[in-house]
Amino acid sequence: EGFEGLGIKAQFLKALADLGFTKPTEIQEKAIKPLLAGQEIIATAPTGSGKTAAFMLPVMQMLRGTNPEHPRVLAIAPTKELAMQITSMAQDLNAYSDLKIVGLIGGVAKQGQRDQLAGGADIIVATPGRFMDLYFEGLIPLKKIQFLVLDEADRLMDMGFMPQLNQILEVIPSKSRKILFSATFPERLQRVVDNFLEHPLRIEV
Ligand code: AMP
Repeated sequence: EGFEGLGIKAQFLKALADLGFTKPTEIQEKAIKPLLAGQEIIATAPTGSGKTAAFMLPVMQMLRGTNPEHPRVLAIAPTKELAMQITSMAQDLNAYSDLKIVGLIGGVAKQGQRDQLAGGADIIVATPGRFMDLYFEGLIPLKKIQFLVLDEADRLMDMGFMPQLNQILEVIPSKSRKILFSATFPERLQRVVDNFLEHPLRIEV
């Protein structure tokens, strides 16, 4: 029952208890097990549904500890606020594990983020502009990425980030798992899904 029944392990159950999350939300009920089983998902869950923990919990658990020489998770969000929320949720869920989580968010000094990257990262949460800046500086190895999360993918495209998304999708290992959240699936997003995801599970809440 609850998060335990979905396959979440002790160290994350403790973090969830500290957060006061006693019961999974609908998106968590629907997404956690398939993600832990290795499935790719496309989901329409809105902000407020608990979608952040729905992807972060299984992804963090699947990393099985830190190995920060190469980042293994990349989560891209369209706005600074959303990226900060994702980073902060990941840090809360990390209370009893030791993953390195780095947020690369625009509007703040780059040097601190360069220093953090130099110290390694298991999980990178980023807005596209700042991500590409630091990527082109050669500071973000993507060869070992295992999970790519695109949050609010339709908004990412509406804001003009399609070229950056395509570039990221071309550079990360093709076998990395993709997790997409989007309110809508317009034609060009559907093409991304068709080209880069393998039999994704569609989840609507
Ligand atoms: P999100 O949709 O990820 O932005 O989450 C919306 C809000 O729900 C955030 O403030 C989370 O802290 C909270 N939340 C996420 N999962 C749960 C849960 N299982 N129980 C209670 N609150 C939750």
